Amino acid sequence: MTSRKKLIAGNWKMNKTSADAVTLVKDLLLEVGKTTDVDIVVCPPFTALESVGKLLNGTLVKLGAQNMHPEKNGAFTGEISAEMLRALYAGYVILGHSERRSYFAESDAFINQKVIAALKNQLRPILCVGETLAERESGATLKVVQTQLEAGLEGVGKDLAPSLVIAYEPVWAIGTGKVATTAQAQEVHAFIRSLLVKLFGEPVAQKLRILYGGSMKPANAPELLAQADIDGGLIGGASLESRSFVELIRAAAAAK
Ligand code: PEP
Repeated sequence: MTSRKKLIAGNWKMNKTSADAVTLVKDLLLEVGKTTDVDIVVCPPFTALESVGKLLNGTLVKLGAQNMHPEKNGAFTGEISAEMLRALYAGYVILGHSERRSYFAESDAFINQKVIAALKNQLRPILCVGETLAERESGATLKVVQTQLEAGLEGVGKDLAPSLVIAYEPVWAIGTGKVATTAQAQEVHAFIRSLLVKLFGEPVAQKLRILYGGSMKPANAPELLAQADIDGGLIGGASLESRSFVELIRAAAAAK
């Protein structure tokens, strides 16, 4: 098995002013700024990308955005393009988060356009997939994940695939305090990897990181991160405070 460097990404959602985000990033850099054995990504709201990006410049911690529009520019009031994110030195962008899918009615086809636009602009998409509680209870988890993954990655060639990051986020575990069991999470992660093998071949699929997201906390992270196909975490609530975010990064560094 190829060893994959763990990745911990913080999704700050609609939290933190630019000044608050800067304070958090300063704390993070003091604690984990020299970490080389885990990739660290912070995804502040759009309004804090520039200030946080300036602080991160020249450090090992990378900047990510939480969303973007697939078009290059134009009459899309309130939207932000991949080019605009690149100009702020963002390296990653979260796409297809369940909150975008449910509150903003984003379809797989629209998310796919964003994935393609991100890749064309040298942004690494963190493509989120995951089932609702009703879907899990009706036994549809793998089908839902397969549809979201395959539709989200349609048209992505083997050449650009190495830039992808996938996040498995069971919707019922996001912000609820209910975490998937390690067996539930590993089953879906292994399934996602098998789909990636079909799409891109074994060597590429073995290198791609598949993150778990959904109430990951310092207490449950070590067990989740020890699973064979869990390559890191996409963290919401626990990334808003430096102590828990740092503990998660340390848990990823300690995971084998
Ligand atoms: C998320 O929204 O991506 C997430 C995983 O949130 P939380 O960690 O708060 O469940």
